[in-house]
Amino acid sequence: MPLVATDAIVLHVFDYLETSRIFKLATRELGVQSVLARGARRTSGRFGSALDLFAEGVAQLEVRPGRDLQTLTGFDVVRSRAELASDLSRFSAAAAMSECVQRVVTEDHAPVAFEITQRVFDALTIADGPAVVGTTLGGLWQLVAELGFSPNLHDCASCHAPVDADRPASFGHAAGGVLCPSCSSRAPGARRLPPAARTAIQAWMAGESTTPALPEREGRAHQRLLREFLGHHVTDTRTMKAWAAWEQGDWR
Ligand SMILES: [Zn+2]
Repeated sequence: MPLVATDAIVLHVFDYLETSRIFKLATRELGVQSVLARGARRTSGRFGSALDLFAEGVAQLEVRPGRDLQTLTGFDVVRSRAELASDLSRFSAAAAMSECVQRVVTEDHAPVAFEITQRVFDALTIADGPAVVGTTLGGLWQLVAELGFSPNLHDCASCHAPVDADRPASFGHAAGGVLCPSCSSRAPGARRLPPAARTAIQAWMAGESTTPALPEREGRAHQRLLREFLGHHVTDTRTMKAWAAWEQGDWR
């Protein structure tokens, strides 16, 4: 049975039977993996109490090809990121990002998805207020771009006519980008995208680490736009529960 050591971040955890836990890990080499950690509920066990949600380290896995659930034999925690679990706004943002990564990341995109998740989680440990939402939106748009789903933000996604960058544009989810006035009139449900929002999405997709301090109204509009875009182009149709909690959470 192949033994693999890989960098990993805990995306999700739940108890299994009396003494074990099941973890969902974002791994650098193998994409998202579900792993069974026998004895992980014992505080004195080999996994220790530092192995919890959002922690990062080196995971040792027994990998059986074709299985949905692998076996975790060890995990050396490098960063526990307790700062994320102790603050509700950071926690809900990190949980929404975790949910999204679980849905969309395949082995092909494992290294870049791991690095984006790592960067966002690290930034969230010291982020406060509007920076929490901005940091998370930035990472998620970068992930969308790396997965090859970038929306068209320069010319009309339907007819390729130029779209004025200095004026609000319509954003059509089905077309996958901004729309000229003519195509917009035939696109029900198109969202209005102000120039600043378009600039922000372009910067986020390019991986620029500038995090605009988004006012609440703009931040919420960005959350909704990205959720709708993900639903159209990237994720399956199951409701994203952690995302819903993030979007509906208190703004501070
Ligand atoms: Zn058009």
